[in-house]
Amino acid sequence: MRIFVTGGAGFIGSALVRHLIEHTDHEVLNFDKLTYAGTLSTVERVADSNRYRFVQGDICDADAVRAAITEFKPDVITHLAAESHVDRSIDGPGAFVQTNVVGTYTMLAEARAYWLGLDEDARAAFRFHHISTDEVYGTLGDTGLFTEDTPYDPRSPYSASKAGSDHLVSAWGHTFGLPVLITNCSNNYGPYHFPEKLIPLMIAKALDGEKLPIYGRGDQVRDWLFVEDHVRALQAVFERGEVGRTYNVGGHNERQNIDVVRTLCSILDELRPRADGRPYAEQMSEVADRPGHDKRYAIDASRIGDELGWYPQETFESGIRKTVEWYLANEDWWRPLVAAKASERRGVAA
Ligand code: NAD
Repeated sequence: MRIFVTGGAGFIGSALVRHLIEHTDHEVLNFDKLTYAGTLSTVERVADSNRYRFVQGDICDADAVRAAITEFKPDVITHLAAESHVDRSIDGPGAFVQTNVVGTYTMLAEARAYWLGLDEDARAAFRFHHISTDEVYGTLGDTGLFTEDTPYDPRSPYSASKAGSDHLVSAWGHTFGLPVLITNCSNNYGPYHFPEKLIPLMIAKALDGEKLPIYGRGDQVRDWLFVEDHVRALQAVFERGEVGRTYNVGGHNERQNIDVVRTLCSILDELRPRADGRPYAEQMSEVADRPGHDKRYAIDASRIGDELGWYPQETFESGIRKTVEWYLANEDWWRPLVAAKASERRGVAA
């Protein structure tokens, strides 16, 4: 199949691109604007494949999207390009509305025009797969799980813009018959995660002897999924998912943020002890909580398991250890990003 991936230079998009090139026969076009969050170093190791190509473009630019789709002739569009950092959405929501809502509209409009021009068999086989977040469902109390039927209740500009994009995708399915699929996934972690997000940020700060800022009491709960498990889920959904259906994707790994940081510290204590022999946990330090910080997210991923046979392969313990090992072995990937973004960094996000 020919897979058109938007946002393929970012964290999850690049994991999908690497997976598709290294573990399948699919051809991939990576369409990415290369914002601050996207870098081609994430896909360097597959860039020479004759099944891979890259186009730099903006999902809000209809002409650029049309040209790339027309030339590549995809069987599937997997749409991951987005503004993705909650803290940035609080500081500057406009970019989130533009990229996540207007950009998704542009992708849908161009996908539909292309799809209408296909012959009957190709039209039936075509899929538009929209990648979204569990944050659209709002926040949970101490118990309960998000299912695909949980009403939307987004609370940050980021999650509101993603909710808006999900509704547009759903509307294009219902109104125009475009064969759409939506996945709503929990927090991802793993290699090539931009070092402004909780896990890589904490690893970087710990190694540099800086304070490890914990929002509020650090008791926010997130359900963590190793990124390579997520991209296997995406493949299962666009290859075998039922058109028009939403699938929740999660790792059954609920952890308080503070426990995630403690775990990182203890793995670092073991793998790269501090020069003074003291524990990294001594660097942890409370900072004022994020406004509107959701208390708990947790996903019921039974539909994708029951219907498509997808289950995560990594536990939190195995995935987090692999992640720390990767960051220790790949300082030349993340250190320049930390240096370049040093002036923009603030707080901790999950
Ligand atoms: P990311 O910020 O790491 O990457 C986003 C990519 O999109 C970057 O390569 C960037 O250059 C590109 N991009 C941004 N604006 C663009 C535009 N206008 N045109 C073209 N490309 C543009 O994000 P991520 O963490 O990889 O997330 C990917 C998708 O998955 C997003 O839609 C996000 O909402 C969703 N998601 C993320 C998580 C998570 O934990 N990271 C969880 C669930 C869902």
